[in-house]
Amino acid sequence: MKKCCICGNLFEGYGNNPAPIETRGECCDDCNINVVVPRRLLDAKKAKIKADADALTSTPLQRAESAKLNALVGKVVEIEYTDGDIEVGILHKDTPAIRYQNPDDDNTKICGYWLDRINGELHFKKSHVKKIRPTEAAQTSQESKQLNELCGKSVFIKFNDGSVAAGFLHKQTIITDNNAPIIRYCLVTPIRNIVFFNSDIKSIREERYGN
Ligand SMILES: [Zn+2]
Repeated sequence: MKKCCICGNLFEGYGNNPAPIETRGECCDDCNINVVVPRRLLDAKKAKIKADADALTSTPLQRAESAKLNALVGKVVEIEYTDGDIEVGILHKDTPAIRYQNPDDDNTKICGYWLDRINGELHFKKSHVKKIRPTEAAQTSQESKQLNELCGKSVFIKFNDGSVAAGFLHKQTIITDNNAPIIRYCLVTPIRNIVFFNSDIKSIREERYGN
């Protein structure tokens, strides 16, 4: 018998991968059909909406968009906001469908931009941006054989800034406007997802539990 990591009930037979509901363990068939699969479908729908929004082209520019920002959509950028905050993330176009997390909402009207950041999505208007520039990471990020080999495994990482974290490692490939892929990695921890570049880590090792 196995214990479902979502409902806690015991079940027999093969378990199912519970991602993205849970990052470890296995779930029962009921939870897979009723919880995990619908969530994956919704996530896929949302991902498509985000890609469609980024692909929106408009001539002349819609009121809420700017040619300068549009040129950096899909790239890793550093933005200094008018309130003094500086944030780094991947720039995307924002629409009501994305902003309100409702796939059925309007995905043709641009209402601003959003940054895909380490700490989650940050939505803003073009008027909030004081300075924007593509970051060095966008040009220099490279894959690491060591990181690639540990993808899908549980790892322990020491970052260059002195912080440490343990979680499941994933690789993410982002295709930018100029078709140059950006490779970044994501560490899924129970608290948050940490997105980083190969150049951000000092050391990494596989974590083994049990046996
Ligand atoms: Zn279950």
